Amino acid sequence: MPRLVLVATPIGNLEDITLRALRVLKEADLIVAEDTRHASKLLQHYGISKPLLSLHQHNEHWRVPQLIKRIISEDLLVAAVSDAGTPGIADPGFLLVRTAVSQHLTVEVLPGPCAFLPALVGSGLPCERFVFEGFLPPKKGRVVRLQALSNETRTFVLYEAPHRLIQTLSQLIDYLGGERAAVVARELTKIHESFTRGTLAEIKSYFESHPPKGECVIVVAGKS
Ligand code: SAM
Repeated sequence: MPRLVLVATPIGNLEDITLRALRVLKEADLIVAEDTRHASKLLQHYGISKPLLSLHQHNEHWRVPQLIKRIISEDLLVAAVSDAGTPGIADPGFLLVRTAVSQHLTVEVLPGPCAFLPALVGSGLPCERFVFEGFLPPKKGRVVRLQALSNETRTFVLYEAPHRLIQTLSQLIDYLGGERAAVVARELTKIHESFTRGTLAEIKSYFESHPPKGECVIVVAGKS
């Protein structure tokens, strides 16, 4: 039976891959990957060698419909991976799943690594209800999102690149105030994993004297 399986891959620590993910990657006829060079290094680590096809934001609009047709007509098992974590979460994947669903192709999603979950759960901030915001838009729409977040009562989670961390913390202070509790989780699952906790103002001041390196997730307490 033709199948599309989204496979979550490690966000740093290569031990964080499930047995099921390894089995599916070994059984797949084809693996679609955001960056085929990156994926082939990862697969090599697990001793897997498969045909790869690139699928990223610049080609997915024309490649996805072709791929879905091919999976169905050739009765393929295709696995999809992004560079890290769960495909579709701040990564390509949504269009692939939406098109597969529209063509009645069976879709499976294997649970696995995703950066926002360990950041949220390890933050120590309320996590029973939360909002995942992903990356704030770099320019257009940024202010509107920040304004909406200023009234958010649930804990919210943002993804950010290290070189934009201080600018984003400054803007959060402008819209939410410097006293709001927050946490920056960096280098999750890696050797230098760290959680920096405090108010937004304290965290910003910390990173001004300790320039941030590595990938980070910002977790902010909701408005009380
Ligand atoms: N698909 C991924 C997931 O499931 O989390 C997210 C990919 S998105 C392109 C990359 C962003 O995820 C980074 O800028 C950072 O905000 C976050 N991220 C990924 N790996 C991380 C890690 N090891 N530690 C902290 N944040 C990480």
